[in-house]
Amino acid sequence: MPAPQIQNEGIPNRVADPQVLIVGAGPVGLTLALDLGLRGVRCTLIERNMTSIRLPKMERCNARTMEIYRRLGISEQVRNAGLPRNAPMDVFLALSMAGPTLAHLPCPSVAEAKAAIAAHNDGGLLEPYQLISQYTLEPLLRSIVLSLPSVTLRFGCELISITQEADSVTAVVQSEYSSDETIRAAYLVGCDGGSSSVRKQLGIPLEGDGNIRKLRQALFHADDL
Ligand SMILES: Cc1cc2nc3c(=O)[nH]c(=O)nc-3n(C[C@H](O)[C@H](O)[C@H](O)COP(=O)(O)OP(=O)(O)OC[C@H]3O[C@@H](n4cnc5c(N)ncnc54)[C@H](O)[C@@H]3O)c2cc1C
Repeated sequence: MPAPQIQNEGIPNRVADPQVLIVGAGPVGLTLALDLGLRGVRCTLIERNMTSIRLPKMERCNARTMEIYRRLGISEQVRNAGLPRNAPMDVFLALSMAGPTLAHLPCPSVAEAKAAIAAHNDGGLLEPYQLISQYTLEPLLRSIVLSLPSVTLRFGCELISITQEADSVTAVVQSEYSSDETIRAAYLVGCDGGSSSVRKQLGIPLEGDGNIRKLRQALFHADDL
């Protein structure tokens, strides 16, 4: 098993009694930690996995996401780590990689979209989309979050249960340091994905049907592409 990426050099609570405990270091939890950290809010971000995601997911950051990254001052860093600005963004629907095209949706490259935004500076749109896979975005966000002194980032640390009091919340977490450690914070934010245990523990039901179909994903590397 790989060594856990506990980012505060082995000290479980670099920031004692955080103001905010964030559960889940996906794109949402990392972005929240970045936003709060830049404001000097003491927060602890826990992630049950040892590392960031390694499979493709969330390939495209939409315009609103890029506007948020612009406000946080990192939109150019995100673009530099993603697909080059001149890469074509057209979408093709086909039955196979070699099969005939069923539909072709032309979309401007990031460079073209930026030029169009600059030419119509009406404040309607500030940033176009960006292709950057979640497995590239998460490590980038993590490295930026790590530079913020008010944020503690702990991988290999899972939320087990939460108890709400009048002015705080106490979370029981499990990590390699202890099977039942408690973290007390003024606020807890569940950024723990679609099957969020925070949501379930708060009794918030899922509306509609879950698991509506099976999804299979294949990742392959092709030097020629
Ligand atoms: C194949 C695929 C393609 C997609 N493409 C796109 C796309 O192009 N654009 C787009 O916007 N979206 C896309 N999505 C959706 C996108 O991936 C999700 O919306 C996004 O991951 C949600 O981010 P999140 O941070 O809310 O949750 P997640 O990415 O699910 O992160 C939640 C984190 O919480 C952690 N966690 C869960 N429970 C606990 C616990 N008890 N204690 C500690 N940690 C916990 C998990 O390990 C995980 O790291 C795609 C999804 C899939 C599956």
